[in-house]
Amino acid sequence: MENNFSEEEIAAAGKWMSRRLIDWYLEHKRDLPWRETRDPYIIWISEIILQQTRVAQGMDYFHRFIRRFPDVSSLAAAAEDEVLKYWQGLGYYSRARNLHAAARMIEEQHNGRFPESYPEVLALKGVGEYTAAAIVSAAWNAPYPVVDGNVFRVLSRLFALDTPIDSGKGKKAFTRLAGWLMDPAEARLYNQAMMEFGALQCTPKNPDCRQCVLADKCLAYASGEVQAYPVKQHKTKTRDRYFHYFHILSGNRTWLHRRTGKDIWAGLYEFPLIETEGPVDFAELQKTEAFQSLFGAAGHLRITVEQPKEKHILSHQVLYITFYRIEIEKVPESLQTYLPVAAETLEEYAVPRIIHIYLEKWLGKLEE
Ligand code: SF4
Repeated sequence: MENNFSEEEIAAAGKWMSRRLIDWYLEHKRDLPWRETRDPYIIWISEIILQQTRVAQGMDYFHRFIRRFPDVSSLAAAAEDEVLKYWQGLGYYSRARNLHAAARMIEEQHNGRFPESYPEVLALKGVGEYTAAAIVSAAWNAPYPVVDGNVFRVLSRLFALDTPIDSGKGKKAFTRLAGWLMDPAEARLYNQAMMEFGALQCTPKNPDCRQCVLADKCLAYASGEVQAYPVKQHKTKTRDRYFHYFHILSGNRTWLHRRTGKDIWAGLYEFPLIETEGPVDFAELQKTEAFQSLFGAAGHLRITVEQPKEKHILSHQVLYITFYRIEIEKVPESLQTYLPVAAETLEEYAVPRIIHIYLEKWLGKLEE
């Protein structure tokens, strides 16, 4: 840490901070269904759903998911396609695949009983230090501090710590500090209080410091530099990608394929896709080798630009997506590697949200 506090100072700070935070939490906390339970399975699912989703948005998904997969064994027994279908719209599909794989690990390695120790929970697929700490502290009051973006922000401001939070050194230092501050007897309440405080009070932009129960001890507030914390060393780089989707129609049929590999949306279905290096219009697209090998033998094409270029922002990528509807005269051999699907069964396939929205519009038009 750039600021040098002794362990005694931190332990003393921890006592008052822990008490005030917990009192604040008991008065201001939101009533959320996963806070009422000690069931590690339910806590786990809620944590994974909420990792990139706001509470209001994630609530419906949580209820739907838990209704269909109420426990480890129902999730482990499901087919991956069905799990992805229930995840559709939440994004970050690798999380759903990991949940599914971890449920199977629990069935096989722990006889279906959710493991109780921190190292065993941490060993589950897709469970990192933050999630493992959140599960074991909420389910068993085990003294493991959670350290997420909210906690980084609160601690860096309270102690005016300028170690970058996105450095290995920063992560270790903040985790150590969070551990020193935690009252081990109150791990459950303390962790929940800390995260709620970061989410509702010590917010990224314009926190209401005058109404803050920790204001008299907050070094960033005292120096008028709240917005300077937390410090980051890297700005996230984003990559632009250009997707051209082909909703190919021959009678009632269209074609899909399943994405594989390490790219986005692995395991989900999509229309035949051509990705180009940069933005291209349809005339240019038609000249590409990829277009020729897909449609060269399809006879006369009736083409409609069904949804012109739309921007779709993911965490490290910006996708520019255009949908073309193409009615073909003959089914070319190039489509043999794709899955023919009848319009009325399209809804059974888990697809990325952008394709789901497109299909809803199109199926809506068919019914008009
Ligand atoms: S005084 Fe402001 S910056 Fe400090 S902990 Fe409270 S809300 Fe956060």
